[in-house]
Amino acid sequence: MKNLIYFFVLILLSGCDDSNDTDLSEPLSKTEIENLQYLKEEEKLARDVYLYAHDLYGQIIFENIANSEQAHMNSVTVMLDKYGIQDLSYEARGVFYNQGLQNLYKELTSLVDKSVQEALFVGATIEDLDIFDLNNFMDTTDYEDLQNLYEVLSCGSKNHMRAFSQDIVNSGGVYVAQYISEEDYALILASDMEKCGN
Ligand code: MN
Ligand code: MN
Repeated sequence: MKNLIYFFVLILLSGCDDSNDTDLSEPLSKTEIENLQYLKEEEKLARDVYLYAHDLYGQIIFENIANSEQAHMNSVTVMLDKYGIQDLSYEARGVFYNQGLQNLYKELTSLVDKSVQEALFVGATIEDLDIFDLNNFMDTTDYEDLQNLYEVLSCGSKNHMRAFSQDIVNSGGVYVAQYISEEDYALILASDMEKCGN
């Protein structure tokens, strides 16, 4: 009898399951939660460094991509809210909860100080790291909405990478990938700008 009840409960549960993305009966793992909290600040790092570069050199590429990073931050915030996850990020520019990102901000902005070409290299480095991290985040979740968020942000990062790399070439430099593989970097450069998201 107990087995029979169990059987009907199973049928009931499977019958209810027509949401095509999220199974809220299974909470996000600690890793999934921490990745989202980290990602919010990683997008903020990109935005804040590009705003810093724009303040210094006034090049439109930094402002345009900073706006895109703001949109990425907003997309992460939507997901944090959806799952009731605490947003650890600060409002203030250049201030981070995560100490590693705080140190990275200091390091990268001091490179930006050197020259506008160095600032472009910093941009490529940030996008390189973002694409690398997003690939890892994709591997650590089965949630379709999280996968989709990571895909959209990675798509944006690849466009940013193309833009920075082009400006680096135009300034007589060559960026060498530091986080993603040389093969992946070459594939990104060989493909056109994409439209990301829906
Ligand atoms: Mn981004
Ligand atoms: Mn970016």
